[in-house]
This record gives sequence, structure tokens and C-alpha cells, in this order.
Amino acid sequence: MTDTTPPSAIITLDKVHKYYGDYHALRGISAEIRQGEFFSLLGPSGCGKTTLLRAIAGFEDISSGEIQLSGRNMEGVPPNRRPTNMVFQSYAIFPHLSVAENVAFGLRKSGKTPGEKRRDVAEALEMVGLADFGKRAAHALSGGQRQRVALARALILKPKVLLLDEPLSALDKKMREQMQVELIKLQREVGITFILVTHDQEEALVMSDRIAVMFEGEIAQLDDPEMLYRRPQSRRVAEFIGMMNFLPAEVVDVAGGKAEVEVAGLGRAALEAGQCPGGAAKGAARIGLRPESLTILFEGQTAESGRSAEGVVEEVVYYGDMTYYDVLIHGAPSKVSVSMRNMPGRRVLERGDPARLAWDPRAMVLFP
Ligand code: ATP
Repeated sequence: MTDTTPPSAIITLDKVHKYYGDYHALRGISAEIRQGEFFSLLGPSGCGKTTLLRAIAGFEDISSGEIQLSGRNMEGVPPNRRPTNMVFQSYAIFPHLSVAENVAFGLRKSGKTPGEKRRDVAEALEMVGLADFGKRAAHALSGGQRQRVALARALILKPKVLLLDEPLSALDKKMREQMQVELIKLQREVGITFILVTHDQEEALVMSDRIAVMFEGEIAQLDDPEMLYRRPQSRRVAEFIGMMNFLPAEVVDVAGGKAEVEVAGLGRAALEAGQCPGGAAKGAARIGLRPESLTILFEGQTAESGRSAEGVVEEVVYYGDMTYYDVLIHGAPSKVSVSMRNMPGRRVLERGDPARLAWDPRAMVLFP
């Protein structure tokens, strides 16, 4: 046991490695997860997020490194002796039991009296919005309600950390969005640390205080949602978290972390140090620009930056509230995707229409 853990860190991961035979599933994961935060492990299938979650829970031994919970090394500590509890993807609800019996199942080894158990069950059901459902048979519940029962069963043990392995993946889109909001509210109410595993970027952005983006057993970036979106440190992270245009560019000058770039089709731009999260060096580079940081100027509009570029619309994808335009910039081998909020009365452009583009140079991100 070490006493270097700052009081705000409930979990410390120190160079955690995991091998399955020859397969290196976790490749030196180091991170601190803070007391009371909503933390997500986000990454594509197979990147190791479930392995990491299971290692924290104690269902999986690690090959080397250290996992500390509340400052205590968890090596050799079985799952039921850790201050964690896990909610699984496949809810694991007993259909033949009532809702209350399912929730009370978590307390079977607690040594509590029947009266205490009843009180705890009622409190847990209240917490997840199922106060009146105690007597209902579990098989007569909707997917969202089952999910809540699973949550109540995990929360009744008052863990310090709740681990959630893709808990919403079996729900339809509408239900999922509703449960996302409810989970955030629940987390704030109970005030304990939630760690969510998800491969859904939007879900992670909406729900998390901080997100660890994982690829191939490593954390590529750990940041709050806004920084991940606005200041991705690599192209891979940028592409995984939403859409981004990558334009060929040349860094012509670097001074004090700032960079002067010549962007194909868009001209010169001066970038602040924060816009160069991966550093800046003279020479060929790419400029990342989100579709919503570009805009099409309609008649009479002028670019805020005073500069614009002419192009032609190649593709139009209509989303109701938004339209995405692929625009080929004249005089450059560059095509950009532009997203525009649809305004009442404004005509949606069509393929082949000329388009004058403006952009926000402050939204540019440099990738060396
Ligand atoms: P998904 O979103 O698909 O669940 P994940 O990011 O959670 O993916 P893991 O389940 O952690 O990924 O798996 C990471 C890698 O380790 C995968 O390549 C997987 O095949 C491998 N793996 C997981 N469990 C085992 C095991 N018990 N034995 C061997 N290999 C395993």
C-alpha cells in the first residue's frame, strides 16, 4: 500500500498490463479516476475496455501493474471484498422473482433482518423510479424497467464505485436516451463514482465528466468531453469522436507553441498553442476542422474572418434539423463536409449548386 494517492482519486491505475496467453489486451494503462465522477471507457470493439472494467471489479487478474481502490492495492482481493459493484450488459434479472425479490437478492449475504432488507429495497426502488413496482413479476417489465431493477440491485449494497458494462446497449434509441438522462441524475443523487463502458461516442459525450478513449489496449486520450471534441490529440481520436475534415496543410512558421499554417484551399491561419495539442513543427501537416466550424454563406452574408472560398456542392444529406453538404473547394484538391442548422424559409442547396464557404480559424486543430 502506498500513500501517494491524492484524496480525490478513488481509483488509481498504475501501468496495468493484461495478457490472455500471448495476446496483450491491456498495454500499460495508467489513470486516476476521481471520487464522485462519471467516468467512461470509450473505444471500438476489442480495445480492452471490458477487460479493464472487469479487472477493476476483480473478475480478471492483471498480469502486471497495480490497481488501487481508495488507496489500497487490490491485488488478490476478490470481487465481493471490493468497494465496487457491477451492472452487466445482460441485466441478469431472475424472471420468476418479483422486482423486490430481485433487488433484495443483492442483500442475501448481508446479515440484515427482513425489516432492514424491506426498508433498503424500498429505498433502492425509489431511487430508480420503481417505487410502486416491488410486487410486479420481473418478467412483466420493459427493457428499461429491467435495467432499473439491475441498477437498484447494484446500488442497494452502497458501493463506492458502480461499474456499468454497456448497460444501455439492448435498449432502443429513444429508451436509451431517456435512460442516459436518468443515469446522470441518479449518479448526481447518489454521489458515487460511476464507470461506464461504451463504444457509443455520443453516449460517452452526453454522460461523462471525463472520458478515456482507448485503442488496442492503451488510453489514447483522457479528457473531459469538450476537450476531447475540440482538442483531440490525434487524428484517430478526432475521427472516433464525431466527424472531422482533414485538410492538407503546410506549417510555415512556429514560435512559442503557436503555428502559422497554409491550408489547402483556405489560405493562411495563425493557430494558438491550444490548437496544436500534438505539437507543431515546420513542414507538411493536416488541419482538422469539424463540419459545424464551416458554414455556407448565403446571399448578402459575409465571413466574420473576412475570408471565404468558392466551391461546388457535391452531396447533400438532409437530417431534419441539420443538413450536411460535401463541398468541393475550387482551386484545391480539397473536399469538406459542412453541417448547417436548417432555418425556416432557408433553401437547402442542391448538388451542383455553387457554395461560398466561411470557416472559423479558431476551431482548427493541427495534426503534425
Ligand atoms: P467489446 O466492446 O466488443 O466488448 P472491449 O473493448 O470490451 O470490446 P474486451 O472484451 O476487453 O474488449 O477484449 C479485449 C481483447 O481481449 C479482445 O481482442 C478479446 O478478444 C480479448 N479477450 C477478452 N477476453 C479474453 C479471454 N478470456 N481470453 C482471450 N482473449 C480475450
